[in-house]
Amino acid sequence: MKKEQAVENLDTLITNVEAARLSISDHLIVKIVAISKYNSQEDIQTLYEAGQRAYGENKVQDLKEKAENLDEFPLEWHFVGRLQKNKINNLIDIAPSLFQSLDSLELALELNKKLGVKNKKMNCLLQINSAHEESKAGVKPEDAISIYNEIIENCPNIVLKGVMSIGAHVEDENEIKRSFGLTKNIFDSLIEKGARYCSMGMSSDYELAIKSGSNMIRVGSSLFKD
Ligand SMILES: *Cc1c(COP(=O)(O)O)cnc(C)c1O
Repeated sequence: MKKEQAVENLDTLITNVEAARLSISDHLIVKIVAISKYNSQEDIQTLYEAGQRAYGENKVQDLKEKAENLDEFPLEWHFVGRLQKNKINNLIDIAPSLFQSLDSLELALELNKKLGVKNKKMNCLLQINSAHEESKAGVKPEDAISIYNEIIENCPNIVLKGVMSIGAHVEDENEIKRSFGLTKNIFDSLIEKGARYCSMGMSSDYELAIKSGSNMIRVGSSLFKD
């Protein structure tokens, strides 16, 4: 990806994000996380030079390699993929700024234990399967609040910062909106428990997500397109 292209991709995204967020409230601040899972470290460096600092990966090994190789840049790393139990220690050692895809109480308990052994803490989002799709990870929306509270009570090494969700994988905009609205309602009721991030929206649906109240979007293909 050329520098000019990266600047153009980022400018277009920011323009669209601004329009969407201002249509809701000029107090809605939206954080952009560039999902770089299909991209080289050269592309990440190019996008960084265009002005993008936060990146997300969905494989622990890729996150480790890219974070190490780009160590000289002040990047902020997020993990957004499924975390296998045997990769927990690796993720703890990488120390991402946010683990967005904590998707069960069982995983939380295991992660909490391993964090304790290493005397570390980790910022996490609880992933909610708001579209009720079998192919997607995440807790059921009807269980989300109780699981969030159980993690707060039982996992002192996990610092819960909010929720994450992937929009319904359908054409029907109303259905996507419904899944975002469900996540936003859960997020709102968790604000008193310290929830700060409502992470929803990808390349195909980030404007809809922001209009539904998202304050963190995860955008891959439209930021890295040639
Ligand atoms: C890949 C991915 C994204 C970004 O998807 P794009 O459609 O390329 O923007 C966002 N969130 C998660 C969890 C992903 O795995």
